[in-house]
Amino acid sequence: MDLLDARIVPEYARDVKEEARAFAAEYIAPNAAEAFERGEYPWEILEAGQEANLIAQDIPEKYGGRGLSLHETLAIAEEFFKADAGIALTLQLASFGCELVYEYGSEEQKETFLRPVAENEQISGLAVSEPQTGSDLAGMTTTAEKRDGEWVLNGEKYWVGNAVEADWLTIYAKTGDGDDRYGNYSLFILPTDAPGYEAEHIPEKMGMRASKQGHIVLDDCRIPEANLVGVEGAGFYMLAEFFNHGRIVVSGHGLGLAAAAIEEAWEFTHDRQAFGRDVSEFQAVQHDLADMRLEFEAARSLTWRAADMVAEQENSGFWAAMAKTKATETAVSVAERAMNLHGGRSVLSERRIARVYRDVRIPVIYEGANAIQRNLIYRQG
Ligand SMILES: Cc1cc2nc3c(=O)[nH]c(=O)nc-3n(C[C@H](O)[C@H](O)[C@H](O)COP(=O)(O)OP(=O)(O)OC[C@H]3O[C@@H](n4cnc5c(N)ncnc54)[C@H](O)[C@@H]3O)c2cc1C
Repeated sequence: MDLLDARIVPEYARDVKEEARAFAAEYIAPNAAEAFERGEYPWEILEAGQEANLIAQDIPEKYGGRGLSLHETLAIAEEFFKADAGIALTLQLASFGCELVYEYGSEEQKETFLRPVAENEQISGLAVSEPQTGSDLAGMTTTAEKRDGEWVLNGEKYWVGNAVEADWLTIYAKTGDGDDRYGNYSLFILPTDAPGYEAEHIPEKMGMRASKQGHIVLDDCRIPEANLVGVEGAGFYMLAEFFNHGRIVVSGHGLGLAAAAIEEAWEFTHDRQAFGRDVSEFQAVQHDLADMRLEFEAARSLTWRAADMVAEQENSGFWAAMAKTKATETAVSVAERAMNLHGGRSVLSERRIARVYRDVRIPVIYEGANAIQRNLIYRQG
């Protein structure tokens, strides 16, 4: 059973999907249990991914990347997240925030900041969420003020992937106080060695333990004036556009996790006996497996359709929110059913299904909690 069948993937994206599958089989899946257990940043696997040319490669060729498309990045996400979500998140976040720079940054910013990430010398991150505010993008309180030819940042960011490990972040901060609350934000490139930047890891998570997020405190943190990305005051709109792409990729996170849950449930029920026969011979179990497959295929079809719509910029916000919601919630529901089908063994920490069950709680939250996605679906449909 090849749940991540390539036929739904456009032909031009199939080679990179194969590369991702081979890499996941060699480096991610065999290390998943240990990486989860240790809860440490998987530097060695990240380096192997960089050598395999599978990290940060959405960056355009002009700046040293492979210019991978949205469909290719989605195909990689499905394969990586099926193998292990924690390691996969670290691999995909190594260039988080770069897209905003190659879409909206200056030539100089692109050469200075994107090339080292594409060429595997640096990693990046994206700092939006704050300790008190995650969903309300127009309610963030971190400020950036222009003083003596520099931008001075003050405030806190929370949940930021690679806040401790990254060389630089794209950061979202308040630059105005106008009545239009959406026009008050801007984006900046923030090197993590800037004076006034402090970051520490947030407390241990129950899932995706091989990825690391941080709490950032900015105390009169100074960055050059030239580090403003795009137009001052356009941060909210740039971010909204970026999230449409990100949500398609996060749909791939959900699909990979759902595929892992279905695979585990199938194998377990075909191997386990009860009442003198295979558990899979009970019709109720077969119906469970059928429902899981139904949900998965529906979510996957929607996701690849949404990828087309976002790539063509056809009502992107609506389609991205639909795919993100459906794919990540499918992961939750099939993981729950897969746990039931495992009986007592479902709760053994060493089991892949127990890891998947904890990991699926996360993509329903990041890149915008699903309650926010439903607001977008209702308003933009
Ligand atoms: C593992 C992980 C990695 C992350 N990585 C990053 C990162 O790299 N960079 C970054 O900036 N952020 C990151 N985040 C943060 C993530 O984007 C936020 O957690 C998310 O946007 C939700 O914000 P919040 O946690 O503050 O929840 P809140 O905004 O406090 O919302 C809590 C709950 O309230 C409800 N709710 C809120 N508003 C509404 C509404 N308008 N309508 C209906 N219900 C609503 C929802 O149920 C929501 O889940 C990460 C989070 C996690 C868990």
